[in-house]
Amino acid sequence: MRFSAIVVAAGRGLRAGGGLPKQYRPLAGKPVLRRSIDALLQDPRIEALRVVIHPDDQALFDAAVASLSDDRLMPPVFGGATRASSVRAGLADMPGEVIVIHDAARPLLPPGALARLLETLDQSQAASLALPVADALWQAHEDQAQAPQDRANLWAAQTPQGARADLLHQAHSGAGDDHTDDISALRAFGIRVRMVPGDPRNFKLTRPEDFAMAEALMTQPDIRTGLGYDVHAFGPGDHVVLNGIRIPHDQAMVGHSDADVAMHAITDALFGAIAEGDIGQWFPPSDPQWKGAASEIFLRRAVARADELGFEINSIDCTIICEFPKIGPHAHAMRESLARITGLDTSRINVKATTSERLGFTGRSEGIAAQSVVTVQKR
Ligand code: MG
Repeated sequence: MRFSAIVVAAGRGLRAGGGLPKQYRPLAGKPVLRRSIDALLQDPRIEALRVVIHPDDQALFDAAVASLSDDRLMPPVFGGATRASSVRAGLADMPGEVIVIHDAARPLLPPGALARLLETLDQSQAASLALPVADALWQAHEDQAQAPQDRANLWAAQTPQGARADLLHQAHSGAGDDHTDDISALRAFGIRVRMVPGDPRNFKLTRPEDFAMAEALMTQPDIRTGLGYDVHAFGPGDHVVLNGIRIPHDQAMVGHSDADVAMHAITDALFGAIAEGDIGQWFPPSDPQWKGAASEIFLRRAVARADELGFEINSIDCTIICEFPKIGPHAHAMRESLARITGLDTSRINVKATTSERLGFTGRSEGIAAQSVVTVQKR
């Protein structure tokens, strides 16, 4: 089947506020209409698309599609005073064997819902996206509940709605101007219309608060990940400090600070996640003030910097690579130490250890290596 699409955008839609017809109001940086057009054009089966606009909106329309270069977008046509008359205007000389008609004010049409509709229209004369009614339905008199209504077999219609082009032409040419949608015009003409499960995200922007809800649904979380790695050598001493926990050992770690190799790796991972360089840039080993410093200072600074930039830490993972000391007995205390410093719940912090099977410098117990991955999310 050859599919084409009409977007009905001729309404005034001032109920949604904003002083502009709602289909031209920006939604997360793009006009609502443009998002609705893009949602349809992302399906390659749509071979042509025409928008029906209000005669006053030519400049708004031109601006909305200025950055769109897609041969499938046809010049707009002017609509009438009712949805039905606008659809008739859109149908005139429209190419395609099957035409789907979409409300401009449903910009969040998911690709899967559109695909379901087109697949149904491949098999059936006419179909519409719709959602089975889930809420209890009540008849009310003013604000007083009167009688419950049976919701079995009730569907809330969405768009797109579509049909074979010849049927749509016949239905709309014979129909008056009082049809609220294409299902009603098709049904009045005796055509069977299949209900295809739509999607709750494909709701119609009507009230001012609908814009806030749509923006919230569209906003992708900004999640970033950083990687850290550090090594310190063993030297004379009687303990090591790992993730802030003092562990008795027959050697110590050599380093300018307290040589907490694990916390250094975590700090570097955090600086990496927020794209703020590395621990050596923030705390140069040449600076005497960091001599013997507790590495907690470094991690606290990285956490504060992340906070300044609007990032929240999602998770911390750390692997300590050594033959000795054994890390397992101290892992829980290390998680609590890191939780205290970062403000995270321990359920978001992991500390694990591995040996390197006596291979390499860690295997020969010349030093300890540590790796870390830290994930952050922009608030
Ligand atoms: Mg280090």
